[in-house]
Amino acid sequence: MSAIPQERRVVTAIPGPKSQELQARRLSAVAGGVGSVLPVFTARADGGIIEDVDGNRLIDFGSGIAVTTVGASAEAVVRRASAQLADFTHTCFMVTPYEGYVEVCEALAELTPGDHAKKSALFNSGAEAVENAVKIARAYTKRQAVVVFDHGYHGRTNLTMALTAKNMPYKHGFGPFAPEVYRVPVAYGYRWPSGPDNCGPEAAAQAIDQITKQIGPDNVAAIIIEPVLGEGGFIEPAKGFLPAVARFAKDHGIVFVADEIQSGFCRTGQWFACEDEGIVPDLITTAKGIAGGLPLSAVTGRAEIMDAAHAGGLGGTYGGNPVACAGALGAIETMREQDLNGKAKRIEEVMKGRLSAMAEKFDVIGDIRGRGGMIAIELVKDRATKEPNAEAAGALAKACHAEGVLVLTCGTYGNVLRFLPPLVIGEDLLNEGLDVIETALAGV
Ligand SMILES: *Cc1c(COP(=O)(O)O)cnc(C)c1O
Repeated sequence: MSAIPQERRVVTAIPGPKSQELQARRLSAVAGGVGSVLPVFTARADGGIIEDVDGNRLIDFGSGIAVTTVGASAEAVVRRASAQLADFTHTCFMVTPYEGYVEVCEALAELTPGDHAKKSALFNSGAEAVENAVKIARAYTKRQAVVVFDHGYHGRTNLTMALTAKNMPYKHGFGPFAPEVYRVPVAYGYRWPSGPDNCGPEAAAQAIDQITKQIGPDNVAAIIIEPVLGEGGFIEPAKGFLPAVARFAKDHGIVFVADEIQSGFCRTGQWFACEDEGIVPDLITTAKGIAGGLPLSAVTGRAEIMDAAHAGGLGGTYGGNPVACAGALGAIETMREQDLNGKAKRIEEVMKGRLSAMAEKFDVIGDIRGRGGMIAIELVKDRATKEPNAEAAGALAKACHAEGVLVLTCGTYGNVLRFLPPLVIGEDLLNEGLDVIETALAGV
């Protein structure tokens, strides 16, 4: 069980004096471009709690951005990674390989959708996985164009900035961006002009029409989409959209890539979110929740596509580091043993029930959406006009932080409050966090 008492405790101002001292040092030593949601310095974290250096205990509704799905010091992750640390920290898989890397690739083949032959390659970060998915798709198709979607997020490297939709803060001033990247509409039901019921087929028709007219399907190497859009605002593409786009890709020899970096590994109550609509992607990118907090990412997919790149064409010094691989095996063990898909579904039930009741009282809530442990509320100034209310999202987050509940915002318009608790969080903590959100809503 957890070493840290699983209870919220606020004993100083947030941030407290020790955090403020560290923040002052940080400001003179750390580059200003690297921000923090809440400058509370962490001492320990486990289960649903982050304990800071002043002894405050925060309820964690962020999981370090959907990473610590199994908690931030899960027993199996610590045990396996510690044992690996004592044996060896690194050899470089491209120099002399080791079993952990192979075991992670075997697990990925088993857990990802589809029963075709699959292979994987491992990397360090999500952005690196997405870049490699593009390299692999281009090598396989001998085509160049890459199609992405409005509100999509794929990372901060040069190619993935180009793939990402939102200018501020991800791209502003950082161009020029990689060429041959094309963006088409996504089925954002809440904001679709003719309403959510028509949205799936209409948005798919528009996207397909644009690809056909503006790029030409024969020039497209890959279509990359998040099955639930993360940074863009926890947008679940309206029903029918994903299958239509996947079918179009298949009909035209385009590699269909599901970016499950945020939505994967039990987060939405399935191993992968695309399973909810029966989608079998050609390639799938994973990172975040994969390794219990250790840096690891992967591209997994059809063996013939994964093998298209020439020998030596893929890799990296640290990719699939042995300690990170041990962490991943520990995280997967925890997900299986504690049925974290079941836990995610229960979190959805509790959260959506409570948030629906709040929406009856508070008009600022325009939409409640998401799946499993990936739930959000979109805030508006007026339910009729749906004018985004970023100020309310900021004020709510601030009020929750002051009471010891860590929540994050997101969305193209900055008006979405998102909840990503570790899936191992206790139900009492979950409800207490929701109580604090409810009180904060009454205050805005
Ligand atoms: C976070 C994220 C990335 C980038 O991952 P990094 O590890 O930060 O490079 C890519 N795609 C999606 C969907 C993400 O949520």
